Amino acid sequence: MSETISARASRFRRAAGWPQRPAAMRHVWTIGGLVECRGCGMFQRMPALQPGQLAACARCGQTLEWRRRTSPLQTPLAFCISSCALYLAALASSLMTLDVYGRERTVDLVTGPMELLHEGWGEAGILVGLVTVIAPAVVIGMMFAILYAASRRALPDWAPHLLVWYEKLRPWSMIEVYVLGIFVAYTKLTDLAHVDVGPAVYLISALMLTMAATDSTLDTELIWRHRRVDSVTRMEDGRRVHVRFAHIDTIAMPPPSHLVACQSCGLVGELNEPVSNLRCVGVCPRCDHRVWRRAPETLARTTAFLIAAIVFYVPANLYPVMTFFKIGGGGSHTIIEGAIELWQDGMVPLSLLVFFASIAVPMLKIVSLSWMVVCTWRGSSFALVQRTRLFHLVDIIGRWSMIDVFMVSILVAVVRFNSLANVTANAGMVSFAAVVVLTLFAASSFDPRVMWDAAGLNGPSPDGVPSAVVQARPGKAMAEDGATESGTMEPKQA
Ligand SMILES: [Zn+2]
Ligand SMILES: [Zn+2]
Repeated sequence: MSETISARASRFRRAAGWPQRPAAMRHVWTIGGLVECRGCGMFQRMPALQPGQLAACARCGQTLEWRRRTSPLQTPLAFCISSCALYLAALASSLMTLDVYGRERTVDLVTGPMELLHEGWGEAGILVGLVTVIAPAVVIGMMFAILYAASRRALPDWAPHLLVWYEKLRPWSMIEVYVLGIFVAYTKLTDLAHVDVGPAVYLISALMLTMAATDSTLDTELIWRHRRVDSVTRMEDGRRVHVRFAHIDTIAMPPPSHLVACQSCGLVGELNEPVSNLRCVGVCPRCDHRVWRRAPETLARTTAFLIAAIVFYVPANLYPVMTFFKIGGGGSHTIIEGAIELWQDGMVPLSLLVFFASIAVPMLKIVSLSWMVVCTWRGSSFALVQRTRLFHLVDIIGRWSMIDVFMVSILVAVVRFNSLANVTANAGMVSFAAVVVLTLFAASSFDPRVMWDAAGLNGPSPDGVPSAVVQARPGKAMAEDGATESGTMEPKQA
């Protein structure tokens, strides 16, 4: 008889109705065809998508996957190469030339951050340099390497790390916001002197489009499916366990409390015990990142960043952001005064843009994130779908508040004519930049799934497996015939 002593003991306990001793975990399952919604935390079946189709969460409506019609590698690669060329050309050419009473001054992309550094606003100078010069170069380089790696037969080990970092760094490349900052600075300069727009403005406007096109044609899910899943992985306590694969169509729906999805690559794993929200589970067998069921200490971190942002919000609005000196006029103004000045000069749309980006958006972020944190502490189930959508909106629009900071960095760089005309940055600008960065951190540390957990909606297993809602991409016709690449690619065991 081959039954082991422990198996016999277990059988005896079961027969006697005694509680079972928790079995030592020897393996974990990865479940194919199942995804977790990053908005609400519901696990649902992911149907095979045709090109042009999009799968949305059945509960909160968040997009889960979107299969592009374009070639999944060649199209983003073409845009990425164009971005690379445009970036290098923009770096080498002039941004704008200002002519004040016959004296000319030409600036380029790096002049703004450098002038801020020289003026003693090092934090702001470094921030502007990072998000307009360094971050775009880094994300373009990373994307190029990722697409090169994805075009090989097996995805190399370094590629998953790069893809995870790409997604973390991408929001910090703020070329598109910078373009608007240039536009606002240009309108402020036209009534001072003659302004010539340099080729760099057109080049970075084109760069903004090619970078957006790279992102919208890139299908990261397809790249992850190319990646093998390791047959052995490490749990957080150091144990090594075997990884087995099952497809959701062939098994019963596991209890959601036993399921965990990797935050980086989306791989769903099932453990033979409930997974804690507070502790790291182990290492993902597909992307090698540490897996948490929810973002670690999400409420505490978000609250801390929000409090810091509120503290900086006061000086950001009370102190002037810049001082404009010119013969026969000038003076310093705060953010709200800047918007009013544009309004009085008859530039109503621009004034509304500055008001929206610099005053309404930071306020909306602080108020809505605070509301979400309070509702979560209280376990409220009020307007959960709306709150999840609002979080998504706040997460996207937060970076646009940088317009004012960029405008000041450009004006400081270009208006340097000593006694004729001069622009200097003030303390309000640094505080305002701090508010924007802190609210960005607050949004990135908040995990909207905890709102649904707190309301008790990610509880016991539902009957059957809920299925994601498949839609055609808005404004596009339904998919053409032919199987998708995704339909033929299943995770491969090593
Ligand atoms: Zn959802
Ligand atoms: Zn992973």
